[in-house]
Amino acid sequence: MNMSHIKSKDTKPEIAVRSFLHSKGFRFRKNDKRYPGKPDIIMPKYKTAVYINGCFWHMHDCKNFVWPKSNTDYWTNKLMNNKSRDLKYYNEMKAKGWKVIVVWECEINEDRLNQLINEIKGE
Ligand SMILES: [Zn+2]
Repeated sequence: MNMSHIKSKDTKPEIAVRSFLHSKGFRFRKNDKRYPGKPDIIMPKYKTAVYINGCFWHMHDCKNFVWPKSNTDYWTNKLMNNKSRDLKYYNEMKAKGWKVIVVWECEINEDRLNQLINEIKGE
């Protein structure tokens, strides 16, 4: 797997989710630095933050995540740090009364996106 292009600012999963929400009439801000972890999508109207996570960088428990075979100490540290930082961000947001929704790169499809809308609206 080529990891070099995954962590760019506007990765494909983010674009997919944003354009879907946009097409459904939702308005949002992206990567707002004022919030923990710069959520990919922030919707003040619904007090909801959506984090769109790449399976590798955020250690998703799915087939897309595989431990790298070289530099294992480096990767163990880095990825475990990512993971605990994620949890810290989510907890900070929740403590401020925000709803936190995580969308994983591997699960993005029409069903998941429709479900996301229900989660945002709290239905
Ligand atoms: Zn995944």
